[in-house]
Amino acid sequence: MKYNVIERGDEISKQLTDRFHVLAAQQGMPRDEENPDIVLSIGGDGTMLQAFHKYVQQLDTIAFVGIHTGHLGFFADWKPDELDNLAALMFSVTTPEELRIVQYPLVEIEITTGTGVETHLALNEFTLRGIEVSLVAQLHINDEMFEMFRGDGICISSPAGSTAYNKSLGGAMVHPSLEAIQVAEIASINNRVYRTLGSPVILPKHHHCDIYPKAHQNMLLSLDHLYMQRSDVVSIRCRVASNAKVKFARFRPFPFWNRVREAFIGYDVK
Ligand code: NAP
Repeated sequence: MKYNVIERGDEISKQLTDRFHVLAAQQGMPRDEENPDIVLSIGGDGTMLQAFHKYVQQLDTIAFVGIHTGHLGFFADWKPDELDNLAALMFSVTTPEELRIVQYPLVEIEITTGTGVETHLALNEFTLRGIEVSLVAQLHINDEMFEMFRGDGICISSPAGSTAYNKSLGGAMVHPSLEAIQVAEIASINNRVYRTLGSPVILPKHHHCDIYPKAHQNMLLSLDHLYMQRSDVVSIRCRVASNAKVKFARFRPFPFWNRVREAFIGYDVK
C-alpha cells in the first residue's frame, strides 16, 4: 500500500509526520503523493477537509484516516500518542482491499452559469451567502417552487458535515449511514414577501433542491473551507452525490454517536 500524509503545519503535527515517515520507511511502505492508497491527515478536521479536496478526483481509490493534534475531531479520531499503534495497524495491511472501510455520502453541487455547468463535491457543506446585501433566492424542491429566501444565506450539509457549520445553524445531527442532505437557513428574514419554512429540511438521495439566486447577485460560495466570490450563477442544483463517497479506513470501532457525545457533551467513557 502507498501512503501520503497531509498535516496542519504546527510543530506537533510536523513531528508526528516525521515519525510516521521513519516508521513507514522501516516497514518498506512507500510514500506516493500523487496516487496514494491511504492518506493520513494529521491536524484537525480542517486538515482532513484539505486532504479530501486535494484528492477529490481520486475518491474511488483512496481511504482517509486522521490523527488529531488539537481537540477530538470527527474525521481525526486517533490521538498523537497512538501514532505508533495506528502505524502498526496500517502496516499490517498489505493491499487496499484488506482495509476495513466506512463510506460517507457527500454533497454534490451543480452550478449553472450563462456559459455552462460545473460540478463540485463537499465533505461537510456547501454554502451561499450574500455579499454586502442579503441573499435573495428562490428555492425549489424536486422542480417545484418551495420558498422565496431572503437573508444571510443557505447551507447544504452532508451527514458528516451535520456536526460542523450545520450544527451552529440549529440543524440536526444526521448519522452518516443515511444518504441525505440537509438544507439549513442562515438568518432568514421573514415577512409577507419573503417567507421561509424556518426549520432545517432533510432530503433523501432521490430528491434534489435547486437554488435560483436573483440575477447577477454578488455571492460568496463555499465548499467546506474553500471560498469563491461569484456573480454569474444562474442556478445551483444540490443533491446527494450519486457517484462518489468518501472512504475512511477504520482500524477500530468509534461509533458516530460516541464522537458526538465526546465532542459536544464531554463524557469520555473509554
Ligand atoms: P475553521 O473556521 O478554522 O474551523 C472550523 C471548526 O469546525 C474547527 O474547530 C474544525 O475542527 C471544525 N470542524 C470541521 N469539520 C467538522 C465536522 N465535520 N464536525 C465537527 N466539527 C468540524 O475552518 P476550517 O478548519 O477550515 O474548517 C472549515 C469548516 O468550518 C467548514 O466546513 C464549516 O463546517 C466550519 N465552519 C463552521 C462555522 C460555524 O460553526 N459557525 C462557521 C464557518 C465554518 P478542527 O479544529 O478539528 O479543524
